[in-house]
Amino acid sequence: LDGKRLYTGLVADISERKAMLDNLRIMAEHDGLTGLFNRSYFQQELERVVERVKRAGGICCSLLYIDLDNFKYVNDTLGHAAGDRVIIEVAGILNKRARKSDLIARIGGDEFTVLLFDTTPMLSVQVAESFRARLADYLFKHGGEQIDIGCSIGVAGISPGTTSATEVLSQADLACHLAKRGGRNRVHLYNVEDAESAAAMAIDMG
Ligand code: GH3
Ligand code: MG
Repeated sequence: LDGKRLYTGLVADISERKAMLDNLRIMAEHDGLTGLFNRSYFQQELERVVERVKRAGGICCSLLYIDLDNFKYVNDTLGHAAGDRVIIEVAGILNKRARKSDLIARIGGDEFTVLLFDTTPMLSVQVAESFRARLADYLFKHGGEQIDIGCSIGVAGISPGTTSATEVLSQADLACHLAKRGGRNRVHLYNVEDAESAAAMAIDMG
């Protein structure tokens, strides 16, 4: 303009939009009830870990699949709100017991997963045992009543031979079902023979 180069600048305060986007991201990655990571975030992380273990070789990780025992009893006798409180308290116990490097998620109603980094199958069974013992010691207090809460845990190793996150998740899920079948309040480490039991179990479930 008149031989001069002029500039026009527009300034907008996007703090609110940014806060909203951050909030949306937190909501997309976390479980609303417990604040733990949710299923979809956990699945993505698991995929990344499976790929990393495949490429790096030598490192082993493990997946713990924790399902509360007879949790429906709490809902049915004390109501859904009390059931929700149990889930929140269980999340707190798992968080307290876990190491900083472990990744914990709530992936379903009364199902939790823990991803252990750089471990061995034997060590992860010991860790699973300590999670199981913590929950076995836990008493849920409600209006003068006390209810024993327990859990069953399936453990599956992630090695360079693991093909996908879906594979390891279903192995740990199957191991958890086998722990339930074995009498609940126990830990089961997935092994290759368990795949054969899966067919029999599918018939049971059917
Ligand atoms: P099992 O020992 O075989 O695991 O039996 P269970 O009674 O624990 O029942 P199961 O794990 O098969 O099902 C979990 C139940 O948790 C089903 C549903 O009624 C209840 N549930 C799922 N999500 C929630 C939730 O967000 N809050 C409450 N209070 N209950 C839930
Ligand atoms: Mg259950």
